[in-house]
Amino acid sequence: YIQPQLDAQGKLTGSEALVRWRHPVRGLIPPSVFVPVAEESDLIVDLGAWVLAEACQLMAREDMAGHPLRLSANLSPRHFRQKNFVPWLRNLLSATGADPTHLTLEVTEGLMIDNPNEVVDKMSELTAIGIHFSLDDFGTGYSSLAYIKRLPIHELKIDKTFVQDAPTDPDDAALVETILAVAQHMHLKVVAEGVETEEQAAFLNARASVIHQGYLYGRPEPAE
Ligand code: C2E
Ligand code: CA
Ligand code: CA
Repeated sequence: YIQPQLDAQGKLTGSEALVRWRHPVRGLIPPSVFVPVAEESDLIVDLGAWVLAEACQLMAREDMAGHPLRLSANLSPRHFRQKNFVPWLRNLLSATGADPTHLTLEVTEGLMIDNPNEVVDKMSELTAIGIHFSLDDFGTGYSSLAYIKRLPIHELKIDKTFVQDAPTDPDDAALVETILAVAQHMHLKVVAEGVETEEQAAFLNARASVIHQGYLYGRPEPAE
């Protein structure tokens, strides 16, 4: 499934790929149920590889059809840590014909737990071919400011829990404003996730020019 992302003027700027499992008996299973289980083993590597392959095929297809599409895909730390991840992804991009400059990889701070130097090196290699990195769920973990200084990232994603309560809860409002200020100083793009109401959208638009993603604009739907 993919979900649209729009700029403050309402123009489509990209989409996030969000995996679903169509179970023959249990129906559509959300990723919150099976991704954490897959992450306990290398199953997440196969799953992530499948999602990235689907994403690259879709990007290449849309490019050929004359309507290029920016796609963001979620990348699990275990997948990224695979020794051959960088050559594997380069190969996938050239095999599918997908444009690396249209791909954003969403990572979380969990990536930095071990061997930060290696992580930065790998990210830099991918940044060099035009791939963008986005720091997902920003504000929910330890959110060390040192990470955004060290990591070659282009974008912060404000977690939906902050976005949803920002218009009514002064603490969440302050957090969102702080994240926006940090992003502005560091020249990072911001995607606000979980925008469900006009009030939430107006709160954001009054403060900065950010990209909006949420049910207000569109739910995750089959890519077709
Ligand atoms: P996430 O990366 O933080 O994705 C955003 C989640 O917010 C998605 O849930 C999306 O459907 C949901 N969302 C978007 N707009 C709204 C809104 O307006 N209101 C509300 N209440 N929710 C909204 P989803 O699709 O259930 O995915 C949950 C998590 O599963 C993702 O969180 C991500 O961590 C993981 N995930 C999904 N697809 C993949 C994947 O392909 N690979 C990996 N490694 N993880 C994935
Ligand atoms: Ca995400
Ligand atoms: Ca998120």
